[in-house]
Amino acid sequence: MNAYIESVLEGVRKKNSTQPEFIQAVEEVLASISPVIDAHPEYEAANLLNRIVEPERMFTFRVVWMDDNGKYHTNRGWRCQFNGAIGPYKGGIRFQSNVNESIIKFLGFEQIFKNSLTGLPIGGAKGGSDFDPAGKSDAEIMRFCQSFVSALYRYIGPDIDVPAGDMGVGGREIGYMYGQYRRLKGVWENGVFTGKGLTYGGSLIRPEATGYGAIYYLCEALKHEGDTIEGKRIGVSGYGNVSWGIIKKATELGAICCYISGREGYVHDPDGISTEEKINYLLEMREKHTGVKAYADRFGCEFYPGEKIWGVKDVDIFMPAATQNEVELEDAKKIVDSGVKYYFEVSNMPTKADAQAYLREHDIIVAPSKAVNAGGVGVSALEMAQNSERLVWTAEEVDEHLKRMMINIHNASAEAAEEYGLGYDLIAGANIAGFKKVATAMMEQGVF
Ligand code: GLU
Repeated sequence: MNAYIESVLEGVRKKNSTQPEFIQAVEEVLASISPVIDAHPEYEAANLLNRIVEPERMFTFRVVWMDDNGKYHTNRGWRCQFNGAIGPYKGGIRFQSNVNESIIKFLGFEQIFKNSLTGLPIGGAKGGSDFDPAGKSDAEIMRFCQSFVSALYRYIGPDIDVPAGDMGVGGREIGYMYGQYRRLKGVWENGVFTGKGLTYGGSLIRPEATGYGAIYYLCEALKHEGDTIEGKRIGVSGYGNVSWGIIKKATELGAICCYISGREGYVHDPDGISTEEKINYLLEMREKHTGVKAYADRFGCEFYPGEKIWGVKDVDIFMPAATQNEVELEDAKKIVDSGVKYYFEVSNMPTKADAQAYLREHDIIVAPSKAVNAGGVGVSALEMAQNSERLVWTAEEVDEHLKRMMINIHNASAEAAEEYGLGYDLIAGANIAGFKKVATAMMEQGVF
């Protein structure tokens, strides 16, 4: 690896020694762009990499809220405005008890390159709180969201920073947060959050976008391999909003999604999660926090408590869509044993570094989440465009844009890897293509 990159990495490891997720994300991106740094000495001359690994701004804030029994609770909130070179900061908000600074920072860092890949003018950001929405009443969620935005609203805006959903934050939470923003500012700035409800500036297809986009990208990669999605069996981990979109689109295109999983284990539905009733039930499970076993109970299929899906032998494609680092080295070994050819990451950084290396060494085609899941934030940017134009696009229009975007992301990644003599390397290609645009913008805007 390039000596300049080595020195930057050493600094990152030292400065962020308590942030393993962040270090992991930086290591992957910097390793990928090594040939670009070799070819562009001006980046080293401007010491660009030491700037790109440091958030432009990151802050924490106190979020106090009252539960239904009148008791007060204090949580911590974060927003990381990582890089605004190519557009207003953009990225989701995650509510989950395990959220910490390292997780927010790695997600913000990934978001820079993901957002760049969409081809749209959005910078990279992420935020969240260690608040756990599971088991909270609607009124508690509302009070928490209002308190969260009371602390954040001064630092966001349609041309400043545009938050959206992520794990634990869906349409309901965005509604409460948008409402509080409007109440505090007294303006109708409906481009300030994305993932809004359809009655107040939300975009059609936004709820489906991450999953649909992942399948459009997959289809393009299959085409590259002279293959098609029809008849393929797909193992999806997770059962949230993203998994729902994947399953809906994959089923429509003739694939069979026969596994879903949750923290408590996985479900095998050999017929596929293929009927409208089954697919819609996923939404109900998410809303009611039922756990994944509820699916097995309802549709009479097998539930495997405490197990992950990676050992199953009857799928052609794995799509991890649950959370970061859900696939460890021992899981990767099982995936290789299962004989699958395709492993498409959907959740952000689902694969531990050694596990990812193992999969690649064994000739599995691995696609990175920052490319595969970019359709979500991509349609968020389309929502911002609709808001600023004060009009509403049809579902077909949005879907058409999304499809084109995902094809472009795949092709731009494949071409970038090819250009640097790396072959069909979708991970390096995505990092290189995403990096180049941001790096050029940073160089042109001068040193700061
Ligand atoms: N949280 C999603 C992501 O990881 C969506 C972000 C957005 O729409 O701004 O990309």
